[in-house]
Amino acid sequence: MIKYCDLKEINRAYEPQLTDAVTRVIHSGWYIRGNEVDGFEKAFADYCGCKYCIGTGNGLDALTIILLAYREKGVMKHGDEVIVPANTYIASILSIIQAGLKPVLCEPDARTYTIDATRIESLITERTRAIMPVHLYGYAADMNEINTIAGKYYLKVIEDAAQAHGAMYCNKKVGNLGDAAAFSFYPGKNLGALGDGGAVTTNDHDLAEAVKAIGNYGSHKKYINIYKGVNSRLDELQAATLKVKLQNLDVDNLRRNEIAQQYLNGIKNTGIRLPITNDKERHVFHIFAIMSKEREALQEHLAQNGIETLIHYPVPPHRQEALREFSHLSFPITEEIHETELSLPCNPSMSDNEVQKVIEVINSFKQK
Ligand SMILES: *Cc1c(COP(=O)(O)O)cnc(C)c1O
Repeated sequence: MIKYCDLKEINRAYEPQLTDAVTRVIHSGWYIRGNEVDGFEKAFADYCGCKYCIGTGNGLDALTIILLAYREKGVMKHGDEVIVPANTYIASILSIIQAGLKPVLCEPDARTYTIDATRIESLITERTRAIMPVHLYGYAADMNEINTIAGKYYLKVIEDAAQAHGAMYCNKKVGNLGDAAAFSFYPGKNLGALGDGGAVTTNDHDLAEAVKAIGNYGSHKKYINIYKGVNSRLDELQAATLKVKLQNLDVDNLRRNEIAQQYLNGIKNTGIRLPITNDKERHVFHIFAIMSKEREALQEHLAQNGIETLIHYPVPPHRQEALREFSHLSFPITEEIHETELSLPCNPSMSDNEVQKVIEVINSFKQK
């Protein structure tokens, strides 16, 4: 059986160092926002090439807190608009709503699955304050085009980098391509903790200060509250874990790229659309997404041959009950992605033999 993502196997590679890290935290007697968090924040800021990194409780909160910080600073007001891709994971959209702002959904590019920059300008109104590109599946969005539009209309650019730790765009890492970025360290992400975790990265000192305070009840100084904050902090155990795994992130991402190359070279089934890889560094293959009009039959064929696959995602956000206020809208490209997408196993714990097996089974699939 080839699992989609065997977290036990992935973390087994780090077991001795993780055990040391956890023991160190237990013995420290300090469990929230201490030396481990400081050390990881510095290491992750350096990794991304950013001045500041602030740990948060998870990726959704990282996004929300950036927006709350802009509201506290008066950059955004209740009801202002944020442009976001319609085919993202629902968290990006929920963060905008939670911050009292209005998501404006934009179709993605049908080849890259990231926001279609050529459609952004037509969505800009007097109330637009930000664009939130999502580096979906691990592929960096068209940031030059997005930043050019943002510059022209004085908009903030907030990267949702939850799926793309380490992806590069024009020699810069994601997390350092806009005004601020949010990461998730959910266990299955390319950089995954042993529980929930997230971070904000930015080069903006004032924003960093506000984000740090808002995640801690709006407080810079104990019992002095200057913002209406929330409680969303990275804890010492997760930071210690992430410090260990960050050291190997580039090696892990390289392995994901190797597997992706094997898929791209090996899969010959003509009814399947493969991801584009014109620029290798730009993709860290959090998800190896293929598109097939016969997705259900293909998934069943793979399952019968012992290969687990997932769908990212079966229902687009504007078709979710939770977002029924968007249900009258139509996004044909988004809907097609959700109807045809299938995610193949693609993670550092896979062997070459397993990758070959997946290729053979896909190539043996008889299309109608
Ligand atoms: C995982 C993810 C998030 C949310 O991260 P959590 O840590 O689960 O809150 C946000 N956006 C995208 C695109 C994601 O994949």
